[in-house]
Amino acid sequence: MPSTQTLPDSLHSLPKRADELRQLLIKWCSQNSGSDNLTGLAAMLELLYAEFVRLPGAKVERVALAGTTTRALRVKVRPAAPLQLFFSGHYDTVYGASHPFQRCELVTPEILRGPGTSDMKGGLVVMLAALQAFEKTPYAANVGYEILLGPDEETGSQDTTSLLEEAAKHHRFGLVFEPARANGDLVKSRKGTGIFTLTCHGRAAHAGRAPEAGRNAILALCEILPQVAALGLDRAMPGVMVNIGKIHGGGAANIVPDFAEAVINARVTNAGDDILFLKRLHDICTPFLAREGFRLEIGGGFNRAPKIESPFETALFGNWQRCGQEFGLTLDWQHVGGGSDGNILAAAGLPNLDGLGCVGDHLHSPEEFCYLPSLTQRAQVAALFLHRVAAGEIALPLRP
Ligand SMILES: [Zn+2]
Repeated sequence: MPSTQTLPDSLHSLPKRADELRQLLIKWCSQNSGSDNLTGLAAMLELLYAEFVRLPGAKVERVALAGTTTRALRVKVRPAAPLQLFFSGHYDTVYGASHPFQRCELVTPEILRGPGTSDMKGGLVVMLAALQAFEKTPYAANVGYEILLGPDEETGSQDTTSLLEEAAKHHRFGLVFEPARANGDLVKSRKGTGIFTLTCHGRAAHAGRAPEAGRNAILALCEILPQVAALGLDRAMPGVMVNIGKIHGGGAANIVPDFAEAVINARVTNAGDDILFLKRLHDICTPFLAREGFRLEIGGGFNRAPKIESPFETALFGNWQRCGQEFGLTLDWQHVGGGSDGNILAAAGLPNLDGLGCVGDHLHSPEEFCYLPSLTQRAQVAALFLHRVAAGEIALPLRP
């Protein structure tokens, strides 16, 4: 069996690329690519294309998506190699073109604050640097891979889900470069996430002349919402989270309002709890359906099922940990509340390790930062893992 006891030069020398990789991250984060900024996304796609196309033998496509003018970037390298792996990432961020958070700032020599620095342009830097290093290792020819970078992960990946599901059929496992936790932990499991709307229609009436003829949609919705929020305490669904995130409705103050709508974010931990949550939601709403003069509609649904670690993933993680030890890193993994494309891949049957990107914190806020030394550290771990897989030193179970 070949040995990977001595580190290939390309892995050993990765820390020397720290300045270059920081500059690349600043360049990428300075290009706004909010999920709704179509021009910004198109420009970001070209920046990524210019780098990923330089992977040896890479075939790169800008893949058209149904329902949007934005495109996904798909890279294929050695599609005929005996072992095929999938690399997952997204290049949209939560910060639109008009958001005040647009620039990167070096807070300390090790902390770069900026939009997308960790979620997940930092992860894309880690992925690219790991693959560049891996390509110079002696057994790389044994492994082929597909990279898919989507433009809509932050809004639920509606337009890329079918591409992820298709890719899930063709690979042994997936590697997802979403950010690691602030303490450096990887992601063991993720909650399933859903977005729902509750739309209440009542009947308008003059608030002074004939209030009894009206049916107040705002008041009715306000009766329902505390019950929905209380699902967050439902013992039959431990770990369920409910956020009433938005409410709007009504018009002039002298009109009984005939319309009110709430937008709700729900997160569940266990398989099947998405179905239970839906049942509970309908149970709450059913009595209101019988009320004279009112109509209540439930819209939306779960877009990501819970991601629960499989024995295959536990085995992969053990090997990832051992690769970390080679660089003095003690890596653990943990359950997290946020969903990712890792949920979609797992639901489609592809085991995957998630949270392989850079270390950072305060995602989705103007304090988001990347811990810069983690760029080369995490790239080293990923490249060593790939090197060991390619050398046949990591026993891979068959797909479940
Ligand atoms: Zn992300």
